[in-house]
Amino acid sequence: MGFGCLMCKKPTYIRYKKFQASFHSFPKCPIQKKIWIKKCKLTTISPFKYPKLCSFHFELGCFKENTKTRILKPDAIPTIFVRRFMKKKLFEDGILKESLT
Ligand SMILES: [Zn+2]
Repeated sequence: MGFGCLMCKKPTYIRYKKFQASFHSFPKCPIQKKIWIKKCKLTTISPFKYPKLCSFHFELGCFKENTKTRILKPDAIPTIFVRRFMKKKLFEDGILKESLT
């Protein structure tokens, strides 16, 4: 599965442009990776070769200050999810739980 945010559907790329979104790989640390998956209400990320989230899912405070490109702090956790922007297929495939609001 392809490029971009694992969770957001394509029309949001317009938003990406507007807000200059960045894309962030899931943490290498297994513990933190688990936290991200849980926070995202995902059942798995294994179908994705390069799982990434866009910066839309993170509060501003999650990013390091004064960096040229947006870099997440090591302890950053995604907290912002808007169901209507999510890929429908994720729900259909059971990758995303219905309870996400
Ligand atoms: Zn996203």
